Amino acid sequence: MAKQDYYELLGVSRNASADEIKKAYRKLARKYHPDANPDDPNAETKFKEVSEAYVVLSDPEKRVNYDRYGHAGVDGQGFGGFNGFGDLGGFGDIFDMFFGGAGRRRSDGPEKGADIKTELEITLQEAAFGLEREIKVTRTEGCSTCGGSGAAAGSKPRTCNACKGVGQVQFAQNTPFGRIVQSRPCDRCRGKGTIIEKPCPTCRGTGQNRRLRSINVKVPPGVDNGSRLRVAGEGEPGSKGGPRGDLYVYIHVKPHKVFRRDGDDLICEMPISFVQAALGDELEVPTLEGTAILKLPEGTQTDTIFRMKGKGVPNVSGYGRGDQHVLVKIITPTKLSDKQKTLLKEFAKLGGEHQNINLQADKSIFEKVKDAFMG
Ligand SMILES: [Zn+2]
Ligand SMILES: [Zn+2]
Repeated sequence: MAKQDYYELLGVSRNASADEIKKAYRKLARKYHPDANPDDPNAETKFKEVSEAYVVLSDPEKRVNYDRYGHAGVDGQGFGGFNGFGDLGGFGDIFDMFFGGAGRRRSDGPEKGADIKTELEITLQEAAFGLEREIKVTRTEGCSTCGGSGAAAGSKPRTCNACKGVGQVQFAQNTPFGRIVQSRPCDRCRGKGTIIEKPCPTCRGTGQNRRLRSINVKVPPGVDNGSRLRVAGEGEPGSKGGPRGDLYVYIHVKPHKVFRRDGDDLICEMPISFVQAALGDELEVPTLEGTAILKLPEGTQTDTIFRMKGKGVPNVSGYGRGDQHVLVKIITPTKLSDKQKTLLKEFAKLGGEHQNINLQADKSIFEKVKDAFMG
C-alpha cells in the first residue's frame, strides 16, 4: 500500500509554516491518541501516521529531503522503523512533548508468545518421503495443580477491589489542550484484575510452569537439510490472552552412505568391473526405495553418468520428482590369479587392448604425456 502524503495527512499545504504544521499535528494527535480512543483500533494507526508525518515535516532537513524525494528521501535514515513499531514507541515521547510529559502509553493489549526453535535429525529417506514424529519441547504450560489459576487448592483468586477486576485504572489528566482520560495498569493486582491470597505451591501463584511436551510434527516429503518447519501455535504462551507463539523445527538430514543430494536429484557412484564396462551388463543400483536395474551399454567408459528418471527426491512444493544420477567408476582388478593373467595377456595379444582404446581420448592423453616429457 502506498504511503499517504505527509502534508495530506496533517491537512496542511506544501508551503505550510513550521507553526502551522505544529498546530495541525497537535490537533490530530489529540484526536487520535490511543488513550483518547480506547475502543477504536484505527486510532493508533492514524496516530502513528500523523506522528510520523510530524517527525519528518517538523525537522527542516528531513522536510527538504521529503519535498525533494518523497518517502524515499526519508526512509532508511533511521525512519525505516516506523512501520515496525509494535506499540507507540518513540511517538509517546513526541506526545509527552506536547502534553506535559504525562503521555503514558496505553497498556499493551494481547501479545503473541515467543517462538521456540528446535532441531530434528532425520534420514535421507525420511526427508524424501516425509514423516510424522513426536518431538519433545520444554515450554511454559498452564499449571496442572491449580489449573492455571495460581491459587492453592480450596482457594480462588479474588477480584481486585482497586480496579474492580479490570486490571486498569483510569485517571484524568489536564493538559493545555484539554482533559485527557488515560489508563494505566492497576498497581494492586499488577494489571491482572485478580488477587491470589493463597498461592498454589507448585507454580507459586503464577499459574504456569515449565514442562516437557510432546508435539506431533508432520514433515512434508522433499524437505532438505536446513529446511525450517513452522508449527503454528505451539510456541510459548502469549500474554494477556494473546495466542501462543510458533514452533520452528530446523531439519538436519543425516549424510547418506550412498547418496549425495543436489536439489531434488540424487547422485551415487557405482563401481563396475572392466569386464562389465566392456561387455555391458544389467547393473543393480540402490535407490531410495530399494534397488533398480540400470542397463550398462557395451563399451561404457569410466566416469559416465547415467540418469534414472524420477528416482530422485520428490519436490517439496509438489513439482514432480528429481532424478537419480549414477556415476560409474571402472575398478581395475588388483588381485589376479595366474590363469586370469594368462588370459589377459592373450587378450592383449589378440589386439583387444587396442580395440578397447578410445582413439580420440587416448590420443590426447598420449599428447599430454609427450608434452610433459618434452617440456
Ligand atoms: Zn487491580
Ligand atoms: Zn499452580
